[in-house]
Amino acid sequence: MQLLIMGAPGAGKGTQAAKLAAKYNLVHVSTGDIFRSLNEMTDLGQQVRRFMKAGKLIPDDLTNRLVEERLECNDCMDNGWILDGYPRNVEQAQNLDVFTNIIRRQLTCVLNIHVPAEKLIERAIGRRICKNCGATYHVKFNPSKVADVCDSCGGQLYQRADDTAETMKNRLSVYEKNTRPLIDYYKQAGIYAEIDGTQTIDKVTEALFNVLSSVKA
Ligand code: ADP
Ligand code: AMP
Repeated sequence: MQLLIMGAPGAGKGTQAAKLAAKYNLVHVSTGDIFRSLNEMTDLGQQVRRFMKAGKLIPDDLTNRLVEERLECNDCMDNGWILDGYPRNVEQAQNLDVFTNIIRRQLTCVLNIHVPAEKLIERAIGRRICKNCGATYHVKFNPSKVADVCDSCGGQLYQRADDTAETMKNRLSVYEKNTRPLIDYYKQAGIYAEIDGTQTIDKVTEALFNVLSSVKA
């Protein structure tokens, strides 16, 4: 199964993609995580961080190449994958269509988590991530048992450099202009489902599992 999870920044894509990956034994491919893992001591790592800090999209040629390299790996080819944060514009979606046709791994379903804009800033600003295992928390909606310590591995939690009110304004306007048009793109492809992301994390997971239970692998 090849899934795509969509939604505005802070909608809950990463949180839910981790749960879907565990349930269906899929590889979780997050472009944001790929970019954050680039070595910050290199020119490329520094350039990418500048785009991210400003809330801008990384250029398509680099983004498409990194995704293709990842999807061609054996774990993705053998198990299937869930894409999180890619594509983010129509050009990337077209590129993905061409690429998935070539590797014969077309998208099975596109899941869009819908959350109104006014809730997204609070979600992003309160987000905390484990430095060690990448688990995601929220200071109010999904707090760790001990402040700043990961429940699963004991790692230290940190706040992303782009999870500020100022950068979020740019990220949300980039989403409106570039990413929202993908909703129509995938509706036309007939593989689109929308989920109410304002519910609790567990309820959103349940809704996603329900959608997927009726989708053929
Ligand atoms: P995205 O990957 O879409 O940017 P995340 O999954 O990282 O979003 O979630 C953003 C923040 O909101 C995190 O701190 C997460 O714990 C929290 N969050 C995710 N889903 C929900 C939800 N349904 N209700 C409240 N908070 C949520
Ligand atoms: P995310 O972790 O998905 O919130 O992404 C964080 C940042 O990484 C974005 O604001 C962009 O700067 C960059 N990014 C992630 N995915 C993409 C993509 N598909 N295309 C371009 N830039 C991306």
